[in-house]
Order: sequence, then C-alpha cells, then structure tokens
Amino acid sequence: MARIVLKFGGTSVADLERIHNVAKHVKREHDAGHQVAVVVSAMAGKTNELVNWVQTMPKVAGSGGSFFDAREYDSIVASGEQVTSGLLAIALQSMGVDARSWLGWQIPVKTNNAHGAARIEDIDGTEIIKRMGNGQVAVVAGFQGIGPDKRISTLGRGGSDTSAVALAAALHADRCDIYTDVDGVYTTDPRIEPKACRLDRISFEEMLEMASLGAKVLQVRSVELAMVHGVKTFVRSSFDNPEEIDSSPDARPVGTLICDEDDIVEKQVVTGIAYARDESQISLRRVPDKPGVSASIFGPLAEEYVNVDMIVQSVSEDGSRTDMTFTVPDADLAKAIKVLEANREKIGYEIMQSDKGLVKVSVIGIGMRSHAGVAATAFNALAEKGINIRAITTSEIKFSVLLDSEYTELAVRTLHSVYGLDKVA
Ligand code: ASP
Ligand code: MG
Repeated sequence: MARIVLKFGGTSVADLERIHNVAKHVKREHDAGHQVAVVVSAMAGKTNELVNWVQTMPKVAGSGGSFFDAREYDSIVASGEQVTSGLLAIALQSMGVDARSWLGWQIPVKTNNAHGAARIEDIDGTEIIKRMGNGQVAVVAGFQGIGPDKRISTLGRGGSDTSAVALAAALHADRCDIYTDVDGVYTTDPRIEPKACRLDRISFEEMLEMASLGAKVLQVRSVELAMVHGVKTFVRSSFDNPEEIDSSPDARPVGTLICDEDDIVEKQVVTGIAYARDESQISLRRVPDKPGVSASIFGPLAEEYVNVDMIVQSVSEDGSRTDMTFTVPDADLAKAIKVLEANREKIGYEIMQSDKGLVKVSVIGIGMRSHAGVAATAFNALAEKGINIRAITTSEIKFSVLLDSEYTELAVRTLHSVYGLDKVA
C-alpha cells in the first residue's frame, strides 16, 4: 500500500464527462488499497476566462493606473479550482468513494504575500493524513493558498503542478502522479519531430532544464520543489482507459518518472531538445570596454524587471570598445529599449540594434558533464544545414543556441537526429 498524490490538469477535467473519467482513475488507485489525495486544476480555458474578466475591469487609480488589486485578482482566478474540486468530490461520492474537497485555506496551504505569483511556505498535512488513514480521499483545489494577510493567494499560471508536488512532500507521499494530456515527457516536442520518444525516466535536474528552456509539461517551480524534496514525480496520461490500468504494486504503467539521477541506469549523453520562441536580441555596438560597463547595462534593466537571458560580449580589434549582445523575452523588448535609451550616455554605446521573434533551441543531458565535444557536434550539424547561430550559451548539463525562428523545426529535428534520439521505426 502506498500514499499517492494524483494531479489532473485542465484538459483532464474540461467537462463533467472527463471529471467522471478522472473519478474512475482515483477510484482505481483507492480500490488498490492506496491512500489517495487528488489535486485538480480548473476546467480548461476557465482560468484564462477569469483572468480576462479581471483585465477588462477598470484599473486601480493611484497605482499608475496600470495595476489591479492583486488580492482581488487572486480571489477571482482561484475560483475555477473550487468548482472542479467540488465536482470531483461529488463524482467520487457517487461511486461509493468517501471523498471531501479542500480549498487552499482549509488545509491550510500557507504562502508568502506575493499575490498572483505566491510561493508555498508551509502545508499542514495533519488532518488530511488522518483522514486518508480512514480511507477518505482528499480532493484539493490546486493553484491556491492563503497569504499572511489571510487572503486567498495564487501560485502563478500552471501552479497546480506545484500544489501537487508540495502536497506530496507535505504528506510524505511515495509518489506524485501528474495526469495530463500527454503520456509522458518526450525527447522533444512530438508536434515538431514525430520521431520523438517518450522517456522512461529523466533526472530532476534535466527536467528542470527542459521545463525552464521551453518544454511545457510541468511548471518550472514544481520541478524545483520535486528536486528539493526528492518527490518521485510520474507524468502520465489521463486519457488512458481507467479500467485497463493495473495499479498493483509491481505494475509498470506508461509514463515518465522524474527521479534522482542515481535511479537512472542507462544514462544518455543527451536526453532532450527544448525550444522557446519569442526571444528578442539586443546588441549594443561600440561600448567602451572598461570595468563597470556590464553593470551600467544590466543594472538598470534588472531594476525594471527585464529578464535578461543569454549574454555575449565581443571585443573590438584595438580592445578599447566592445559589442554587448543579449536576449530578453519579446514581451520585454520595448521596455528594455526604453531603459537602454534612457541610459545611453552612462553606458556610452554608439549603436543599438534589436531583432524580435527569435527562437532559443537547447540541448540537455547530464551526460554532458563527462563528455567533451557534445556542443561541437551540434554546431557542425547546424552549419551543414546552413543555419546561422546568433548566440550561444553553455552550462554544465545544457547548451542553447539562438536562431532565426524560421529554422526552429529544422534545427530541432537536426539536433534530435544527430544525438541519436530518433525513434527507431
Ligand atoms: N488553472 C491554473 C492555470 O490555468 C492552474 C493550473 O492549471 O495549473 O494556470
Ligand atoms: Mg498545467
């Protein structure tokens, strides 16, 4: 008998029929003798609708006219999960399973005060553990908690993954099963490369990079939490027929286990290829090359919360001037340009150039730590296809290249094949 947290995303609870299907999954695990807690998202599209409603409301005066009261935002957008948790509890009860719904404040899931993007600080699992011991299923509304101000908080978009992993840690669960609309984590996006393979296992660290670098399976924060608390996280499909799945202790269901590196027997050099669109590149040309110049550029950008990612510096021939190239999300480009123009004199650049709509393609694998020349293989392969690389960054277990977006598909497929990730037919 195990203690498991099951999480179902928006598409899995998109309508009453699917909620009923989810209930069958839950009942199956419960009938197998496991202690079960469930975390649900709002119905697909619901949170977007709620966010839209807030955005259509008049803005609050006195805050520059550009903000909403974040506490009220949270109170509104958290409501989608209240509905699905209640509906799932009823569906379970109708199948003869003892079930009770829980909102964040009832547990409580305590967060910090960053309304709209709050972080979980503590979850009191006592009551739920007690009830699970008596055979009751806890159905928990994801995405929400309660702040120190005693008001509802939300964890940022996609936050119910984080709710699930944090709950699993608090309940000392043996596993956190993330049921979603795909049957696991793939070597790359199968919509771009049909030869992508489902991974049986991936390490926390690799998954963290995959999620941060564009793979959309899990919220980045949830993977961080899973890594810190060592929560075995299993990504699997909610569309599999609940009646055909074996939940016995030695069953091997289809999906991807995110686990400790030491639990992976066959370590690959490269595990996956991720991509992120909507990157902008900014180049400041002929900046004086002297101490403090980076600070004069990136300090003001940081103060305005512009997210700077890749940074490349190249020095001119006489060494007195340098070119500084870096990337920001497209959404931050206009703000970044404004900040840099305002600081033009202090920085001392001669020309500023920018390009929008670029793509960052990343290659990830823990095997890179012990293998030399992994990145060089990519550079050769991309060159052979005539793909120009605008910028490169590397770290211990990944490297990324910045490309024109028209090369996204070609680059992803080329790299997927050159590292031997293609499915063998
Ligand atoms: N319903 C929330 C959202 O759409 C949380 C989640 O789905 O994880 O962002
Ligand atoms: Mg989600």
